[in-house]
Amino acid sequence: MPELTGVGVGRGTASGPVLRMAEPLGEPDQTPLQGDAADAKARVGEALAFVAADLGTRGAAAGGDAQAVLEAQALMAQDPSILDDVHAQIDSGTNPERAVFTAFKSFQDILSGMGGYMGERAADLGDVGQRIIAHLRGVNAPGVPESATPFILVARDLAPADTALLDLDKVLALITRDGGPTSHTAILARSKGITAIVGVTEAEKLGDGDVVIVDSAAGVVVTDPTAEQIADAEQKRAERLAAASAPLTPGALADGTKVPLLANLGSPKDAAAAVALGAEGVGLFRTEFLFLDAPYAPDVASQKASYVALLKEFPGKKVVVRALDAGADKPLPFLTDSGEENPALGRRGLRALRAHEQILRDQLTALAEADAETDADLWVMAPMVADVEETEYFVDLARELGIKTAGVMAEVPSLALMADQVLGVADFVSIGTNDLTQYTMAADRMLGTVASYQDPWHPAVLRLVAQLGEAGARASKGVGICGEAASDPLLAVVLVGLGATTLSMTPAALADVRAELSTHTLDEAKAMAQAAVAAPSAAAARAAAVSSVSTS
Ligand code: PEP
Ligand code: MG
Repeated sequence: MPELTGVGVGRGTASGPVLRMAEPLGEPDQTPLQGDAADAKARVGEALAFVAADLGTRGAAAGGDAQAVLEAQALMAQDPSILDDVHAQIDSGTNPERAVFTAFKSFQDILSGMGGYMGERAADLGDVGQRIIAHLRGVNAPGVPESATPFILVARDLAPADTALLDLDKVLALITRDGGPTSHTAILARSKGITAIVGVTEAEKLGDGDVVIVDSAAGVVVTDPTAEQIADAEQKRAERLAAASAPLTPGALADGTKVPLLANLGSPKDAAAAVALGAEGVGLFRTEFLFLDAPYAPDVASQKASYVALLKEFPGKKVVVRALDAGADKPLPFLTDSGEENPALGRRGLRALRAHEQILRDQLTALAEADAETDADLWVMAPMVADVEETEYFVDLARELGIKTAGVMAEVPSLALMADQVLGVADFVSIGTNDLTQYTMAADRMLGTVASYQDPWHPAVLRLVAQLGEAGARASKGVGICGEAASDPLLAVVLVGLGATTLSMTPAALADVRAELSTHTLDEAKAMAQAAVAAPSAAAARAAAVSSVSTS
């Protein structure tokens, strides 16, 4: 059966007819400016204001991660350097549409040249330019097609403004030609649980009306499917919808073994939604998200207020807060040394905090004070910890400053290899599979060109998880998972089979993972884990786990 492949980023399976997104507006011609430059500038100013306001409104309607992305786009529409460029071109006789096109294009080229996360923001900037030109022309901005019946949307790439307001009753799945695992399409598809595959280089082959199956877990688009394959895909989709409305029971395997399902959060504002989806606590609170725009280190009082707001949402529940993880994909101006050539291998995470110990002391103090005023069960951990000595440093400092439960993240292979000694010191370990995969496979997690290496199913990653799981069991200490891997339902079962005691994920994934766990016993999970660990590759590990289920 013909298949197209890409990077599966959302969840689930879907089948249906393709509808392609309209191509972008044509490039504006180079006719010289007609009329007065001041009038042309005023028209552009009005178009910029309209587009910024429109993006803001779409953001407010969408909420969550989408709102942040759309607000960032609204800021791009008002960027003074771009406006200066447009004005300069109009002054030298360029027509307004052309001036907007050229200005946005040159800034887009700069971002694309930077690659990685910034490169993927180039598409967001291009979308803003298109919207402004559409407004100047008096036509609708290019966007998602209208249809009376559900469809699978195929696009070169989706603008955040389109992804945010997708009608999920109509759009069964997304397929994009461009975009890597960190593109906004990927981020939003994950947070909304949309079935999606990005980076399908052959997406151009799909035409309106073609019936396809999208399997996001496998990263595969099946073209020309048989009736049997469609029926199978439909059944999986129906099971998934049923799971989403199933009662919010605590996470457990089929034999009753408890596996608490926790939420990954970046702001106290997202806590209520996570609880509504059945989060039993928080397995990763990314504190750096609170301070991404702060030019200076936050003081104890302002941090404490944020932590109190978070902890109050989880009385009696476990809340794992991570100390600031600055550097690489999450630079913080007051902690990050921006001159590094390879920031992912540089002074990030605990290394940066140790070099600015007062910032770490303030954060731990704020957390201990917030803990004293609330009823949650606060656990605190350090990011990017490399060895036993660093574990001792963090745990000792945390205890000195009043933290009751102190642990470390396992993201660097050297820490996993020392698991027995690390668990002799730390109260718990939480495995960050995103970074653990990046460092085990030596593949930048921000780089689309090496996305195929960034697969936590790789047996090399699973073997490290197994070492940590075994050491945790011997020491009777918790070994949680808080990377994206926990939100892949089948992999979640394998991770439990390898010894994970809790799973923490983006809240949209909780229902799928809860449903999958409930269909396997601990013995089955262990058998799946054993089969996956013995496989030679990520794809083979997945296949081995699947066939271990079907033969048991
Ligand atoms: C991880 O690395 O898996 C993790 C959870 O941390 P982050 O994604 O914030 O680096
Ligand atoms: Mg990490």
